[in-house]
Amino acid sequence: MSRKALIAANWKMYKTPAEAQAFLDAFLPLVAGNSRDEIALFPSPVLLATVIPACKGSNVAVGCQNIHFAEEGAYTGETSIAQLKAVGGTHTLIGHSERRQYFAETDEIVNKKLHAALKAGIVPVVCVGEVLAEREAGKTAEVLKTQVAGAFAGVSAEIAAPIVLAYEPVWAIGTGKTATPEMADEAHKTIRAEVARLLGDGIAASMRILYGGSVKPDNVSSLMAQPEIDGALVGGASLKADSFAAIVKY
Ligand code: PEP
Repeated sequence: MSRKALIAANWKMYKTPAEAQAFLDAFLPLVAGNSRDEIALFPSPVLLATVIPACKGSNVAVGCQNIHFAEEGAYTGETSIAQLKAVGGTHTLIGHSERRQYFAETDEIVNKKLHAALKAGIVPVVCVGEVLAEREAGKTAEVLKTQVAGAFAGVSAEIAAPIVLAYEPVWAIGTGKTATPEMADEAHKTIRAEVARLLGDGIAASMRILYGGSVKPDNVSSLMAQPEIDGALVGGASLKADSFAAIVKY
């Protein structure tokens, strides 16, 4: 089954509106007409009002790095899916390892967010990945299966089609250490098998699994050559227009 790749930028807590605009002025012409893969940007919510209008009519989708599962309410500092939709956002990251690590996001919270995104028609990019100690203890497969099963609790095959997964080994994020293409491919196989167990072979075969963790212009081709890797979630190397454009055009 052929899966359309998604190349996504996680800008984390970087860029002012002026810096975001300068990025887009340079980036959009570089990737114009590039229809082989989907492209998405995940800026901070403060930048959405700059980035979404600038990307309108282009081949670049825009989303949040995090959303709350409640429709609205007294959740200081959070962003609702309705707010994201109202400004034209279409995607959201869920369960990024930095959310899990620094903001105590559990599989249960990830699951609630996934249900909320699916209900609202927002494309969820659910992040999973092991920390170094888990890899060294031989627990990678167990951790990935637990995270996928936890995220997908109560999700049926009928509603799962929009879900994108991202395998991000935590030890490779922002460290310059990339999983070898073979390591990533193996982890993706484990994740896809778990999706098949939970939701059936059809959904598993069509679900995109991105790789994230120190993806750069010089390693993206070898990662994307792996049959199980259906795109990239890029942090540091997505902050400069020429670098992210080179990744999009691997
Ligand atoms: C990320 O933030 O999801 C990420 C993969 O970061 P980096 O590319 O910097 O490792």
